[in-house]
Amino acid sequence: MREMALNGKVIVPGESKYYNLRVAKLPTHTVIDLPVYVSRSVNDGPVLLLTAGLHGNETNGIEIVRRLISDSMVSPQRGTVIAVPIVNIYGFLQQERYLPDGKDLNRSFPGSKTGSLASRVAHVIVNQILPLADYGIDFHTGGASKDNYPQIRCVLSHAMNLELAKAFGAPFIINSALIDKSFRKAAQRRGKSIIVYEGGESLRFDEPSIQCGIDGTLRLMKSLNMIDDAPDIPVKPRIFEKHSWIRAKVSGLFRTTLLPGDKVTRGQTVGSVTDPYGETNVVLKSPVNGYIVGLSRSPVVSAGDAVVHLGHKYELKKTSTNET
Ligand SMILES: [Zn+2]
Repeated sequence: MREMALNGKVIVPGESKYYNLRVAKLPTHTVIDLPVYVSRSVNDGPVLLLTAGLHGNETNGIEIVRRLISDSMVSPQRGTVIAVPIVNIYGFLQQERYLPDGKDLNRSFPGSKTGSLASRVAHVIVNQILPLADYGIDFHTGGASKDNYPQIRCVLSHAMNLELAKAFGAPFIINSALIDKSFRKAAQRRGKSIIVYEGGESLRFDEPSIQCGIDGTLRLMKSLNMIDDAPDIPVKPRIFEKHSWIRAKVSGLFRTTLLPGDKVTRGQTVGSVTDPYGETNVVLKSPVNGYIVGLSRSPVVSAGDAVVHLGHKYELKKTSTNET
């Protein structure tokens, strides 16, 4: 059995407990620790890393990991689960996506010991936690009033990514290229396969997204032979090779009757933007056949704002971008 240690302390087989990693201090000298939960089986097996709250206001992921821990669902029969319910402690305290220095933690990897606060947090994750893991799920929600249908984002051409995504069994799997300085890219460069789960919107609990995240984690653990039982996949995942946004053509009030997860056809009206005085109404139409993977919940939009996120073209061709 391999030796594992965190914060200089040996992780003993059969033990489940929190380790506190020192990250930094607040200006008040208040120490900020990063609680990391580790549950190690007495039987050898893979190490699965669960991370949530890289964006501090993305509470669905935090709740998914919290429930998995508090209901003892992440106690593997074989292998180890390492779970960090809130990676961006600072953002969580402020109910903010970013750290107090204004930096996006998910654009600050691999980080440095002497860099910005975000960079230091990233450095701790990359150097103390990531080396222990074999695979990972990073939990997110839509940012900036976007409501995401439960989905996995990964690189489809990466065989292990796709295998993990299919095992998770969220309704949608979206091809998503590795973004520079993201956690996912830093992990991939170190040979760790990490997929991103997105569900719901920031600062709002969405029960179907939370349940899908829990069930998917258990399915993925079963596929890695860490546990024997997991819920069945309710619907076969749809795989989208491409995704793109429909943007507001004018500023005003955005209205739609559609919901995340809905199917749309080419030329179908997906919403409209009216001026608040009732004089103009600009209709937005879908340029493709696809499904709504994310939707803006903000009623007020500016020209150019992304309002409807579509997944389309199921066949494998090349990678595309975007990550929240
Ligand atoms: Zn996020």
